[in-house]
Amino acid sequence: MGRVHLGLSTPTFVDTIDEFLERTARDGWDFAEFNHLDLPPFSPELLDTGERARVKDLAADLGLEISLHAGDCDLLTLDPGFLRYSEDRILTEAELARDLGAVYLNTHLGFPERMVRPGKSLWADEHFDFQRRVAEAVRHVARVADATGVRILYENTYRLIEPLMEAINECSSPNVGFLLDVGHANIAGGVRELHSTMSRKGKLFALHLHDNDGRWDQHAPLGSGTLDLEGIELPPYVAVEVRNWDMALGTREEFRKRYL
Ligand SMILES: [Zn+2]
Repeated sequence: MGRVHLGLSTPTFVDTIDEFLERTARDGWDFAEFNHLDLPPFSPELLDTGERARVKDLAADLGLEISLHAGDCDLLTLDPGFLRYSEDRILTEAELARDLGAVYLNTHLGFPERMVRPGKSLWADEHFDFQRRVAEAVRHVARVADATGVRILYENTYRLIEPLMEAINECSSPNVGFLLDVGHANIAGGVRELHSTMSRKGKLFALHLHDNDGRWDQHAPLGSGTLDLEGIELPPYVAVEVRNWDMALGTREEFRKRYL
């Protein structure tokens, strides 16, 4: 295993990029993940060319790498207008990643629409061909990644995990890969199972680290839930994704103690 870069995915309540970068560096992290890009202060709209260059230099001066977490675009939506917006949006975000020299841009695939019913919900992917939609989404992202030269990672959520893993493992672009969110995997899919499929073709590049009780997505500190990474080969980038600065430091300490 090579060196693992430990990063902080933005805790809530960050007012400025400078504040985030300075505190992240002060706390001894290797990289800072801007999470997420629909929100100020990280939205591409708020960062003109000069500001992007300044932020890139500031991070370098502080000895930090940058990664980005996409906003709520949805390449699976059945709404053609939102689909077009989402296709454009991922390009806008990849251009920001390129301008900031980000090591990766992480995104969610999107989520099939659901009608919530007592007892059993109705999901759009039970009624439409989402296998094809997932494959098309990955092809679009590969085009964007290749055009901008940015590494784009897909993160596992709770549905369509199998078709997503298949599409990425079959994708020929070296710029497209996986981020294993171990908290999500602890709820759906299983950490070991997803890790093994995502690693098979060398596409696993990063990991989101947070804990839960196996039932819902608590983004809790490591050690407070049932997460177990024993025996897992770690990818080069691990970003802690919990809810505040102190929980993040505690999670990093626990992670080092257990797994490094
Ligand atoms: Zn995540």
